[in-house]
Amino acid sequence: MPFGRPGGHLINLLDLDAAGLAALFADLGEKPFRAKQVSHWVHQRLVGEIAAMTDLSRTLREKLAAVVAIGGPVVVSDTTAADGTRKWLLDVGGGNAVEMVYIPEDDRGTLCISSQAGCALDCAFCSTGKQGFNRNLTTAEIVGQLWHANRALLADGISVPWVDQGRAPITNVVLMGMGEPLANYDRVVSALRIFLDDNAYGLSRRRVTLSTSGLVPAIDRLREDCPVALAVSLHAGNDALRDRLVPINRKYPLAQLLAASLRYLDRAPRDFITFEYVMLDGVNDTTDHARELAVLVRDVPCKFNLIPWNPFPGAGFETSPRSRILSFQRTLVDAGFVTTIRKTRGEDIDAACGQLAGRVQDRTRRHIRIHGAPATTAAH
Ligand code: SF4
Repeated sequence: MPFGRPGGHLINLLDLDAAGLAALFADLGEKPFRAKQVSHWVHQRLVGEIAAMTDLSRTLREKLAAVVAIGGPVVVSDTTAADGTRKWLLDVGGGNAVEMVYIPEDDRGTLCISSQAGCALDCAFCSTGKQGFNRNLTTAEIVGQLWHANRALLADGISVPWVDQGRAPITNVVLMGMGEPLANYDRVVSALRIFLDDNAYGLSRRRVTLSTSGLVPAIDRLREDCPVALAVSLHAGNDALRDRLVPINRKYPLAQLLAASLRYLDRAPRDFITFEYVMLDGVNDTTDHARELAVLVRDVPCKFNLIPWNPFPGAGFETSPRSRILSFQRTLVDAGFVTTIRKTRGEDIDAACGQLAGRVQDRTRRHIRIHGAPATTAAH
């Protein structure tokens, strides 16, 4: 069964959160605990077929196989960088591909996943935005990224302390790949519930981060429905500049975005918002910009993550020089803000998280030319 598109009448088990599984087993006239049992098989034991669920009776397995299947990703490419960063390009049909990136660190394994094929929000510095919006990913296509990464890393014999202790390789998930997650709200929230569910991946809310460009009403909804750690792509300290860099700002300007960020903290699993700030040479990177930013966010408990911009052809921007990024950081730190600079990972495979590399586009075109359309990597 293809990724996210059940063959015939079959339901993809990767599409169903706990409520969906419970409804399915109720429809089948089976006991509720069977839903949890199957969830363990799919998301914890990471099986790829119903036949592998050996503690279900043969009769139940046959009954299930008539209505459901497990449809994981179709991998277009799978590349590992010298620093261990690993990038998968996944075919989501119709000539589209999305990307997910695994970032290994000493104490965690982070997976950066995508939520849409393309993006409608057209941020000025983003190559996904340049590609335009294609479609929302299904819950199965979002969850399938985590499912597949865990399976692939285990199959390759990953050796890290937490896996040796029986945990899954991926300990942290960030929705920072292609797309604006809150523009695909229902499917993303359903996927988040599966990530958090103790009968599925069991990740804590602190270990799941959603990054948004600032869809204010959806931030308020997320606060009620499924508050996970929140990152906001800020990129500018005034409305005039942000209108230009992040056009959704014209609809939800900074005052509204910061008020929503503050409201979110009432329910958030962390007591701060992460503000992401891409560093663009001569555009938003002076110490005056940093001072303006510090004043703007002074009432919001937050941390800054400065992102050295990764160029792509035709973008019309340049990367800020390192010295300017360091001065910008120093200004924010002196103003009392914890401020990190995102490490560039996987440069040799164009997998710098949240970045948009022309070479990826070129390589992608080669890989999926048969589908007739280019894909790209992207993010906030
Ligand atoms: S930065 Fe994020 S929201 Fe903006 S166009 Fe790119 S993917 Fe969309």
